[in-house]
Order: sequence, then C-alpha cells, then structure tokens
Amino acid sequence: MFNSYISNTLEYDPELCINCGMCSIVCPHRVFRMDGKVVKLLDPLSCMECGACQLNCPTKAIRVDGGVGCASAMMLAAIKGKKEVTCGCDSSCC
Ligand code: SF4
Ligand code: SF4
Repeated sequence: MFNSYISNTLEYDPELCINCGMCSIVCPHRVFRMDGKVVKLLDPLSCMECGACQLNCPTKAIRVDGGVGCASAMMLAAIKGKKEVTCGCDSSCC
C-alpha cells in the first residue's frame, strides 16, 4: 500500500520495494537511505519532488510528481560521485 505525505506528492509502497538502493543513491536530500541491506524512507518531508527516485525505481514502488530534467542532472552527479547535487535549473528545486 502506498503511503503519502501531506507536504508533498511523494508516495512509497514498501511492499513493492526490492531494496536495490537506487533511490538512496539518486536522492539529493537523503530522503531514502540504506540501513544495512534494507532501504528506509527516513525523511519524507525533505522531499523536493525532483523525481529522480521514481525514475530509477525498477519496481515502481515510488510515485511523485517530479521534474525529469532535474532528475537527469542528479543521476549524472550521482554517477560522477559528487556529494552536493544541483540540477542547474533556475528554480530552487534542489
Ligand atoms: S523525488 Fe527527489 S528529493 Fe524526493 S525522495 Fe525522490 S529523489 Fe529524493
Ligand atoms: S529504487 Fe525502488 S525498489 Fe529500489 S530500494 Fe528504492 S524503492 Fe526499493
């Protein structure tokens, strides 16, 4: 069952999650984090709705109304190993 949060559009269904960890890698605000071999949604209120986690979740365990352009930039930053990720857009989305 998807859990939702009042302050944003983030929804997460732990029953669909296979703990691959991708959401914890791409999230710029550490909303999802690995705890051993299990991913946990630790800070849902910090979600800025960038959409990176939804884009990278292989089981569609995450739903959020996000900006795909920002997600692409964040994925690139994650791949390049940058600690601070910015999307480069003019808004304050991240
Ligand atoms: S939408 Fe972006 S900020 Fe929100 S949980 Fe997913 S990756 Fe993190
Ligand atoms: S990306 Fe999806 S399946 Fe992978 S750990 Fe995150 S919520 Fe679970």
